Amino acid sequence: MSSSRGMTPTITGHTKVYGVVGDPVSHSLSPVLWNAAFRSLRIDAVYVPFRVRKERLPEALKGLSSVGVQGVNVTLPHKQSASELCDTLLPPAEIIGAVNTVRFETSGVLAGANTDALGMCQLFSDVKIDGPVTLLGAGGAAKAILWSLSQRKATMIYWSNRTAIRLVCPMHFSDSLLQTVPWGSIPLKEAMVGSSLIINATSLGWRSEDTLPQLANVLGPQKTYIDLNYNPASRLLAAARASGAKVIDGIELLILQGAASFNFLTHLEPPLNAMRKSMKFLLLEERISG
Ligand code: NAP
Repeated sequence: MSSSRGMTPTITGHTKVYGVVGDPVSHSLSPVLWNAAFRSLRIDAVYVPFRVRKERLPEALKGLSSVGVQGVNVTLPHKQSASELCDTLLPPAEIIGAVNTVRFETSGVLAGANTDALGMCQLFSDVKIDGPVTLLGAGGAAKAILWSLSQRKATMIYWSNRTAIRLVCPMHFSDSLLQTVPWGSIPLKEAMVGSSLIINATSLGWRSEDTLPQLANVLGPQKTYIDLNYNPASRLLAAARASGAKVIDGIELLILQGAASFNFLTHLEPPLNAMRKSMKFLLLEERISG
């Protein structure tokens, strides 16, 4: 990605520090989103990426807290471990068993939140959920989506994952509401054909060569396809768009979860317009330079 994502702010002894912890983390767009938000509100703060190995997360969180970092977002592969390291969890992080935001209180308390779930709820408020839903994936993001769907009273959810053993729902759904379906099976294809909303919460799509054969011929103008990925070269997103379906890619969730995290960590109203603008500008810049 190019380097013209905004001016470097002047760092002083008063500058507050926020960040994102993950491995890998260099691809994260959160620094662009957050620094745009700080600039728009004229807040003396910076947001930086921290690459942290899986086994070093406990000492990294303690260390960041003790040097006065205000709080961090948490991304792969740390969301579950981070929830276990937090002293308090904002609902529904405890139910989901994963956090993507950790606030370092001055008392030393680590407070965790799952703003993926909160952002997803907001995203769903713009989506008509009037028929069956197919959800692909069983990681932390898929579980946040299940919780959000439980708030929307979806009528039927078909749930599938490559590794079937991971299809364990952390919240209660009746059997008639949530059905697991084997990955790559004919019943999965049938479920997708009958669903008005299909959600890809797997990592498929990040690599340009990724495909999802089950998706072929199941989307069309009457359907909505949500993909948590936002790789502009994703074949899955390209196929969904070509089908005429309403397509929502991961950028909108990135913005909504980022806004909820911003509020949780700074106690301020997030500048949504500036955050959206930063993403639009970045994607335009990528297209021009690509
Ligand atoms: P995770 O816990 O690592 O789960 C990854 C999921 O992808 C699992 O269901 C895994 O299946 C599946 N998967 C990986 N490789 C696959 C393959 N080759 N074929 C089929 N399935 C495969 O990750 P997560 O936190 O849930 O995140 C899932 C995706 O959502 C990621 O791409 C992440 O970047 C994205 N996300 C985006 C946002 C946003 O703001 N836009 C927020 C959160 C997450 P197995 O169980 O079989 O391994």
